[in-house]
Amino acid sequence: MIICYLGLGSNLGDRQKNIRLALQGVGSLKKTKLVRISGIYETDPCNCPPGSPRFLNLTAKVKTNLSARALMGELSGIETDLGRKDKRRNSPRPIDLDILFYGNKRISSPRLKIPHPRLKERDFVLKPLKEIAPALIKSLAKEVKVISDIDLTRKYAAKVKSGGKTIGFVPTMGYLHSGHLSLIRQAKKDCDICLVSIFVNPIQFGPREDYKKYPRDLEVDSILAKSAGGDCIFYPQAKDMYDLGYSTYVNVEKITDYLCGASRLGHFRGVATVVAKLFNIIRPDIAYFGQKDFQQALVIEKMVKDLNMPLKIKVMPIVRDSDGLALSSRNVYLSPREKSDALVLFRSLQKAKEMILRGERKAGKIIAAMRNEISRKKSARIDYIIIAHAQTLEPLEYVKKKALIALAVYFGKTRLIDNIVVG
Ligand code: AMP
Repeated sequence: MIICYLGLGSNLGDRQKNIRLALQGVGSLKKTKLVRISGIYETDPCNCPPGSPRFLNLTAKVKTNLSARALMGELSGIETDLGRKDKRRNSPRPIDLDILFYGNKRISSPRLKIPHPRLKERDFVLKPLKEIAPALIKSLAKEVKVISDIDLTRKYAAKVKSGGKTIGFVPTMGYLHSGHLSLIRQAKKDCDICLVSIFVNPIQFGPREDYKKYPRDLEVDSILAKSAGGDCIFYPQAKDMYDLGYSTYVNVEKITDYLCGASRLGHFRGVATVVAKLFNIIRPDIAYFGQKDFQQALVIEKMVKDLNMPLKIKVMPIVRDSDGLALSSRNVYLSPREKSDALVLFRSLQKAKEMILRGERKAGKIIAAMRNEISRKKSARIDYIIIAHAQTLEPLEYVKKKALIALAVYFGKTRLIDNIVVG
């Protein structure tokens, strides 16, 4: 019998029920045995029309004596039985069934492509697949160039540059999502080579923060990064970045007195230090940061300017899910209740923007309205809400020209940040 992996997704009607019925359908196919299923992952629709409902996804392992084409025919029959009328690729659907892998077979016909051509771009396929087929994910990850050694990374980057090519660099702490991938795509668009670092930097975490439990998954990250355009991943070890007796730090002053700098003492010293080290190792032409961490991007821009570092910084827009929640690796910590409470963040930022558009200028009044809305959520505990000058980050009493509205709020034990710029 051939071992196959299937992807199942539903975003219409009773999604749980559709998945249950589809699995029953797969289990009762002739010459086929359902062996294992993964947990269910909820995700935003990808490449679907705006306003499409969210998907429930999972993967299943089956053994079959059907040919790939016959199996696909049977799966298509299950889709039709469960009410899928519109078979266009990105239409909302009660159930979508794909063959991800059919043994080791490669098929590339107009109607059937195996392995599934987009599976490496999709965390909602890779993560459940890893649960039921870890060896398969390991072998996909092996196709990606990952360097841990600092000197080898320096040599790799120097060789790229000596060949006249440009390097776009995306520093991350991993557990990649579409926000990270948007930076990688942009880097690859602008530069010849895109280098991505994955490093959970211990010196930017406070003693009671989540350094140890920060989510990590190098294998899935490498596959996602490569499919978004990453040519090489730098994955250093903490002991090599900070060896015994390490004692040099970069301190960006003033703008770190506010916002996260005030509530996470030493955080930006850790961020500036690690980014300076990464820039020294890689010497990129352009480095990419997200506006999601507005203050961080500002700190890096200031450091680069003050220390005459020879590179450009590009800050990219915040990527949100369809409900408005800013994507963050830390969102995985949230319970379903906390996640739904956290939607209040973007709503309150938008409300603030509307107040300003309607003519309100008093920061205190706008902040009070936001505070009021957020504190109605049971799991929310506000760390700060600030309206600040978008360059100096000094708190504003009156909103004049360009202003940053930024907040940090705990939902349960998870601290989330978000912001918008107005004016
Ligand atoms: P992190 O792995 O959280 O350190 O983030 C690495 C980079 O990705 C930082 O420059 C972040 O600002 C950026 N980033 C994180 N989340 C998002 C998002 N939702 N949209 C855009 N960029 C993001």
